[in-house]
Order: sequence, then structure tokens, then C-alpha cells
Amino acid sequence: MSARPAGSARLVLATHNAHKVGELRAILAPVVAGLDPADVVGAADVGAEPPVEDGVTFAANALLKARALARATGLPAVADDSGLCVDVLGGAPGIFSARWAGAHGDDAANLALLLAQLADVPDEHRGAGFTCAAALVTPDGFEHVEIGVLRGRLARSPRGEGGFGYDPVLVPDEQPARAAGRLLTCAELTPEEKNAISHRGTAFRALAPTIAARL
Ligand code: IMP
Repeated sequence: MSARPAGSARLVLATHNAHKVGELRAILAPVVAGLDPADVVGAADVGAEPPVEDGVTFAANALLKARALARATGLPAVADDSGLCVDVLGGAPGIFSARWAGAHGDDAANLALLLAQLADVPDEHRGAGFTCAAALVTPDGFEHVEIGVLRGRLARSPRGEGGFGYDPVLVPDEQPARAAGRLLTCAELTPEEKNAISHRGTAFRALAPTIAARL
């Protein structure tokens, strides 16, 4: 893989999603004095291609993405990998979350298949959680991974218009005060409410001090 020089950037994130780059900047800002928005860039900004994700754990996949990006850019690189782990399925779909119904990224088909598989599972056995591994790899070979988990239960049918993926069926154990006894799915939370409790937010907030120390 070859990539354009990253200009004045100090850190590169393995995503082509500008929104995720903005999220990481916001998480790092309080812990990195004088962080400039130009310090943190996405893989698209440096023309880096993603590697094949052939790891068998979230951590392995996050690490291989961060390693490839650090190698290609010569910059400290951050990557994440995430998915839904269902208790009664022994942790599946797990690393196969995005392609559970066969086609990569078909959220509606993935959700429909999961609900059909769990149709006869009673409420007390519908525990599940989103997990995220966030990895930092620096060009000198330093590697560090943090894991974040968002625990909840699976609803019987999708609710809410927000979010993506399995958000419409995961009811987080930790509900916002405004829920007032109703059980909101992740797709019914505002982006701020979800970020505050999400697997991704937790993993990146945990990684932030290590990133700050290596910048
Ligand atoms: P990725 O690691 O962001 O590519 O996510 C892999 C897959 O896990 C996604 O395609 C979703 O199916 C699922 N997933 C991960 N995080 C979330 C989330 O916050 N909400 C809903 N689905 C998620």
C-alpha cells in the first residue's frame, strides 16, 4: 500500500467516514493540549486503501487496520472494529455482524435474519451488546488496544429512525433520563445520547490518553 504524505497531520484514523474523524477529534480535544483539526485526518485524506480484515477477533482486526495505515503513512494510526454479540448465539454475529445475512453492509437483511433466528427466545434470554476494539499503532512499533462494550437487550421488532446497523433492536441497559421508564432502542437515542454510552465512545475515550502520550 502506498499513500500520499499526510501534510501537517499528526494522527490518521482508519476510516473513510468524515463524521468518525470529527468524533475522534472531539474525543481527543480535551486530552491533547492545542489539538488542531488538521492534526487528525482520515484514511481518505491520505489515499490509503483498507487491508483485508482477516482477523478473528475485534482486536485483531482493529490492530491489522492500524498497522497497515501506520506503515503506509509513517504516522501514528488509530483503527476500530466493532459488532453485535448476542448471548444466546454464543457471541455471534460478532466479527461477522456486517455480513450476517451474506451481503456486506445490508443492514436491513442482517436485522431481519437476526430477529427471525431469535423469534422463540424469551425476553429474559435476549441479552446482547455492541463491542468495539480501538487500536493505536505507531510507526516505531508501539501497539495498544482498548475495548468498549454497550450492554442491553434485543427488542422483538425494530424501533426508531436514527443510527445504523442493529441500532433499532438494541435496548441499552443504561437509558437516558428523558426515557422516563420507556425502553428506548439505540435508534431512538440522539447521536449525543448514544455517543455518551456507546462501545465506540467508551473505547476511544479509554484510548485517548495513550494517543495523547504518543503524539
Ligand atoms: P464496523 O466495525 O463499524 O464496520 O461495524 C461492523 C458492523 O457491526 C456494522 O455493519 C453493524 O452491523 C454492526 N455495528 C457496529 N457498531 C454498531 C452500532 O453502533 N450500531 C449498530 N450496529 C453496529
